[in-house]
Amino acid sequence: MSINLLNKDFGTQDKCIAYLEKLRWDKKPKCVFCESTNVKKRPKTMRWHCNTCKKDYSVMVGTIFEGTRLELPTFIQIMFLMINAKMGISASEIARNTGVKYQTAWMCCHKIRCAMINNELRLEGLVEFDEAYIGGKKRKPKKSEENNANLGGGSVTTKRGRGAPNKVPIVGVVEKKGKVYVKIIEKLTSRNLLALLKSKVNTEESIVFTDGFKGYTHFDEVVEHITIKHSESYGKGVKTVNTIEGFWSILKNGIKGSYRAISKKYLPFYLAEFSYKYNSRHLRKDALAEMLKNAVKDESCLLNYKPKGNPKEIVYRQKKQKKVVS
Ligand SMILES: [Zn+2]
Repeated sequence: MSINLLNKDFGTQDKCIAYLEKLRWDKKPKCVFCESTNVKKRPKTMRWHCNTCKKDYSVMVGTIFEGTRLELPTFIQIMFLMINAKMGISASEIARNTGVKYQTAWMCCHKIRCAMINNELRLEGLVEFDEAYIGGKKRKPKKSEENNANLGGGSVTTKRGRGAPNKVPIVGVVEKKGKVYVKIIEKLTSRNLLALLKSKVNTEESIVFTDGFKGYTHFDEVVEHITIKHSESYGKGVKTVNTIEGFWSILKNGIKGSYRAISKKYLPFYLAEFSYKYNSRHLRKDALAEMLKNAVKDESCLLNYKPKGNPKEIVYRQKKQKKVVS
């Protein structure tokens, strides 16, 4: 969909409401509180009245649009910007593009991410399973290492990834040429990995590819499992974990390129955003219509996804850009 079409179809509040009503109820409007079909539209407003429970409501109640301060055309423009930004787009950039305040843009993006969560996904076929880490501050160098460096003994080695503090392990499951599911995992134990495999993969109909990480050894007991040993050779043909590696690179570069800081509390929502966009990559011009379908589903409502954790626990922070003097 182009910007022109966006303005034509979603240019006014009334057009947006009419679209959402058709999408949510088709021709059978019902009460959002008691599901009664004995409802009538209030004349000259976009609100409905239920004759059974006597409550008033609009089509936005119980969806991600509930309680928004934004006009719907702006909300849908933001949705359009988000789903078209493959590598992510920051709330400040959205604020600049649409003329809304940063806080409002941030909240709107958060609501849209809620509609991108898909916990129902089950994968099958040729499936790759892999773990990765988000963030992780550089380890503080030990005294001895600092002294060594000062004496000209080479640079101080402090690393990211495994062994670095504050890193968050995530696990990705992806069908070759298909869909991806990503989740934060508290501990990378065989038991947790096996539980995730069972809940997300149709083990009867799948072959699972992993690297040689010892946490995957028990996969053999429940599914046809092929281990690709990076130390011997990188896999050939379908015997690779290249699909998930490709997704990790989109995710990590996207986070690095677009966001200033992400806390552990909100990381699941960013993972949902990147997975959703990856999974709907074939939709092209239908992507917005598909997104709106999710947006009016009852289960997309913000209240269902209370972020857990401490917002100050930052897992990723953008490095300060060096000023270029010309
Ligand atoms: Zn009712």
